[in-house]
Amino acid sequence: MKFQAILLFGAPGAGKGTQGKILGQIPHFVHFSCGDAFRNLRVDSPLGRVFVEYASKGQLVPDEPTIEMWSTSISGLIGGNRFNPESDILILDGIPRNPNQAHIMEGLIEVKAVFNLFCPVMDKLVSRLQRRAFKENRLDDANVDVIRERLETYRRDTRAVLDCYPEQLTHQIDSTQEPLLVLLDIIKVLTRIPKRAPGADKNDSDR
Ligand code: ADP
Repeated sequence: MKFQAILLFGAPGAGKGTQGKILGQIPHFVHFSCGDAFRNLRVDSPLGRVFVEYASKGQLVPDEPTIEMWSTSISGLIGGNRFNPESDILILDGIPRNPNQAHIMEGLIEVKAVFNLFCPVMDKLVSRLQRRAFKENRLDDANVDVIRERLETYRRDTRAVLDCYPEQLTHQIDSTQEPLLVLLDIIKVLTRIPKRAPGADKNDSDR
């Protein structure tokens, strides 16, 4: 059975993490941030080292270990009873991040909606990321050259992911609005998404 998924899509600094964390608090929605999963690895583990090598240059980690890490993490969520594939919807933040990842994940997820958190002014993203560097102590946000490279990686590799999904699934969300209004736009769409399992409510008392 494919996992039901919502994709949060957008350039670095567009607010995917902010929205994903909030949405993940809603019953039957489970947030998975690929960047957070990488940052939670031990830096001296084999994949942790690969992550630091690529992320410190503003580049993407190669696809194969990325998808493997994603799969392992999701299995962990299922094993820990934090994600029930029958009744819950994954909020995927930062994955898939290029058309090849989208292709590999085709057989694994059923995409119910894609939210494109667009930002017409790139400079706004740069200043948001620089502010985040202090709040979250992220090294890849602290250096303006790395930020520029991440935005370039987004433009070159990631943006094309949008073409992998039907247009009617894609919802354009203005990420320059304040977070509450971005959330409101997303939630309006989410309320219209049909749930897969009609008996899903039976687990409500457990959450
Ligand atoms: P942002 O969207 O602000 O760039 P993330 O936390 O999503 O930050 O990602 C941080 C870094 O983690 C990326 O620059 C990249 O090196 C790595 N990364 C995250 N998700 C993926 C992915 N799906 N594929 C490859 N690399 C990824």
